[in-house]
Amino acid sequence: MPESTDVVVIGAGFAGLITARELTKTGKRVVVLEARDRIGGRTWTDNRLGRNLEMGGTWLHWTQPHSWAEVTRYGLDVTRGPRSEETYWLAGDKVRHGTLDDFMKLIDPGMTRLLEDTMKWIPRPYDPLKVKELEKVDQFNIQEMLDELDLSVEERNANEAAWVGHFNAPLKYAAFTAALRWTAAAAGSWHLMHEASAIFRLVDGTKTLANAIAQDSSADIRLNSPVQSIQHSPNEAVVTTEAGHEIRASRAVITVPQNVLHQLDITPALPEGKVRPSMEKTASRGLKAWIRVKGPIKPFFAYSSQHHPLSVVRTEYIGDDDAVLVAFGADSTRLDVNDSEAVALALKVWRDDLEVLETTGHDWMADPHSQETWLIQQPRHMTSYFAAQQQSTGALHFASADYANVWAGFIDGAIESGLRTARAIVDELS
Ligand SMILES: Cc1cc2nc3c(=O)[nH]c(=O)nc-3n(C[C@H](O)[C@H](O)[C@H](O)COP(=O)(O)OP(=O)(O)OC[C@H]3O[C@@H](n4cnc5c(N)ncnc54)[C@H](O)[C@@H]3O)c2cc1C
Repeated sequence: MPESTDVVVIGAGFAGLITARELTKTGKRVVVLEARDRIGGRTWTDNRLGRNLEMGGTWLHWTQPHSWAEVTRYGLDVTRGPRSEETYWLAGDKVRHGTLDDFMKLIDPGMTRLLEDTMKWIPRPYDPLKVKELEKVDQFNIQEMLDELDLSVEERNANEAAWVGHFNAPLKYAAFTAALRWTAAAAGSWHLMHEASAIFRLVDGTKTLANAIAQDSSADIRLNSPVQSIQHSPNEAVVTTEAGHEIRASRAVITVPQNVLHQLDITPALPEGKVRPSMEKTASRGLKAWIRVKGPIKPFFAYSSQHHPLSVVRTEYIGDDDAVLVAFGADSTRLDVNDSEAVALALKVWRDDLEVLETTGHDWMADPHSQETWLIQQPRHMTSYFAAQQQSTGALHFASADYANVWAGFIDGAIESGLRTARAIVDELS
């Protein structure tokens, strides 16, 4: 006889953990099946290079309502990296040097023009498909929209590099509507969007939040339990792990990332609106690297272009005799983040005075349980698939940062989606 429970949640990232916590608080019996040997999903605080470093999701902000409510609920402390004292950027093959403020002033005209109609297209970020004509702009990638602005080489390099920092992808793959959604979530201000997405982090790491949520729930969380197949009907789902263990439940919640979804063996098959975007994949395909360099150095920020292996680098920790930099690039296949010689070479685009001691990172693109970094949609995915991606089908529900309304692709989005899914299941089962 298969085991039975009320709800099976597949995946113990933030979407899965929140769904499980909320359901258990209403008295439901919940089993969480997690493929990896840890919770947290695309967030992972790991001790490397002598510090607790975030391999994945890191930054959150008080303008991200769902994340911030959890920070308040569990009384977690927030901090930020050192303020940059100098900034480097490129004008063609020439390196420019100034303050971070100089760089912000350089990109401001491009950012302002690019995003001036944000609130016209996404007037209510919590209802991102509200404007029926959104498909008119959803067909464009952000590269096409930047090209329209006819910027100088220096401004163009700078704006492109800033967007790679945000989108973790070559810009020709990323939907312009993704830029609109991020900016709309920050009430139309690109400065606030910039701050909300990349400054403040939890003092003791995202693992403290994931652990707090897990401990606050009576769900049975089983690690090393990859799910292989699901059979479902309107009122029941039977979930089978790779090890052949079967669990029967009134509802199953699938929280695997968009790019992984089509690899689950689901009967009857999922609608096209869910499978197609999973097969076509997200635009985001980049890398995040951690680099320990010899100190002392002044904290700095550096932007190159979307064509370099590293497009954005900045100091995240400063010590007396070393510093740890965090870096992002558009394409994970261009650089092995664990190859410190290759990373040192990539840094030379800006400066050759840094001595690289060691590097690290996690290849999320090659990881079978993520196959993406943070969600950035391709053109047309928002208006063609998003509504279908969010929808439940029979006994199956779908929760993920990838399907959130407001801060989609963020920790905040995962929490939003988990809350909404748990409420829908409670309504259905009561
Ligand atoms: C490099 C990087 C940097 C980021 N930076 C930020 C940031 O600064 N701020 C921010 O807010 N967000 C950031 N993000 C995004 C954020 O981390 C994610 O959007 C969010 O954590 C996703 O949560 P989730 O629960 O929707 O998905 P996930 O965390 O991916 O959880 C899904 C879970 O499903 C599991 N799973 C997959 N397949 C199976 C299977 N077959 N059976 C069982 N379990 C399975 C996975 O192991 C995983 O635990 C970043 C992400 C990355 C990768």
